[in-house]
Amino acid sequence: IEESEKFRIEYWALEEAKLQRMPKAKPLATRIALVTGAGSGIGKAIAHRLVAEGACVVVADINAGSAADVAAELGGPDKATAVTVDVTDEERIKAAFDQAALAFGGVDILVNNAGISISKPLLETTAEDWDLQHSIMARGSFLAAREAARVLIAQNMGGDIVYIASKNSVFAGPNNIAYSATKADQAHQVRLLAAELGEHGIRVNGVNPDGVVQGSGIFAGGWGAKRAAVYGVPEEKLGEFYAQRTLLKREVLPSHVANAVFALVGGDLTHTTGLHVPVDAGVAAAFLR
Ligand code: NAD
Repeated sequence: IEESEKFRIEYWALEEAKLQRMPKAKPLATRIALVTGAGSGIGKAIAHRLVAEGACVVVADINAGSAADVAAELGGPDKATAVTVDVTDEERIKAAFDQAALAFGGVDILVNNAGISISKPLLETTAEDWDLQHSIMARGSFLAAREAARVLIAQNMGGDIVYIASKNSVFAGPNNIAYSATKADQAHQVRLLAAELGEHGIRVNGVNPDGVVQGSGIFAGGWGAKRAAVYGVPEEKLGEFYAQRTLLKREVLPSHVANAVFALVGGDLTHTTGLHVPVDAGVAAAFLR
C-alpha cells in the first residue's frame, strides 16, 4: 500500500509539473484568428464576432473581392487583412499564414470554415463531385490545420483550431452523400488533432450548424433549391421550414454559429477539446429529418 501511495504522489507531482509547463492561451483581445471562407455567410459572421471581441482577423477566401470587402467592413488593416486562398492549394495556405505573420505577428486561432456543397443522390454523384467536395473540405481543412499546428507549436503559446462541420457529420440527410461524408471526415479530424495537439496546449473543437439559410452562399447557390425540393417547400419558405422543425422553433443565423465559436475560443472553455457543439436549435437532439 505504501508503495502504491508513493507512486500515486509522484505521478500527480509529475502531472502537475506538466500542467505548469503547458502554455496558457492569451486573452482574445490579443489574439489573431485566420478564418477560411470568411468572405461570406457563417465565416463572415465569425470574423465580425471575433473582431468585435477585440481579436484581429485574417479574412481568407477563394473570392478575392468578398475577402477584401469583409476586411474593409472589419475596420481595415489594424483589425483585418484579406488574403486570397484556395484551401486545396498547399502553397497558398502556407502563404496565407505567412501573410498573417507579416500583418499581425502570427496566428492563434484557425477557423476551418471554407466549403461548398454538392447535393446529389448517390446514383447522380460522380467521381469528380466526390473529389471536388473532399478536396475543399477534407483536404483543405487538413492542410490549413497542419499549417496552423506548425505555427502554433513554434509559437508555444497554445492555440485553437475550430472546424465548422455540420449536423450532417453525424446524421444522414437525404441526397448529399459527398457533402455529409466529408463533414464526417472533418469531425474525425477534430478528434484526431485534439489527441495529437493536446500536449501543446492546442485545443481542437468543432461546431455543427444546421439550416443556416440567411446569408449562406451555399444555400443561395443551388443547395437551397435542392433542399426545398427534397422537403417539398417553396425555396423562399425554407428558413421558416427549418425553424419549424427545430425544438426551439427558431431559425439559426450565421451569428448564432459565431456565438458558439466565440464560446469555444473566448477564454472560458480552457479544458474543452475534441468537442462538437451543435448550433441547430435542437434538431440533432431529436433528429426529425
Ligand atoms: P457560404 O457559401 O456563404 O461560405 C462559404 C465560403 O467559402 C465562401 O465565401 C466561399 O467563397 C468560400 N470557399 C469556397 N471554396 C473555397 C476554397 N476552395 N478555398 C477558400 N474558400 C473557399 O456558405 P456557408 O453556409 O456560410 O458555409 C460555411 C461553412 O459552414 C461550410 O463549411 C458549410 O459546409 C458549413 N455549414 C453550413 C450550414 C448551413 O446551414 N449554411 C450547415 C452546416 C455546415
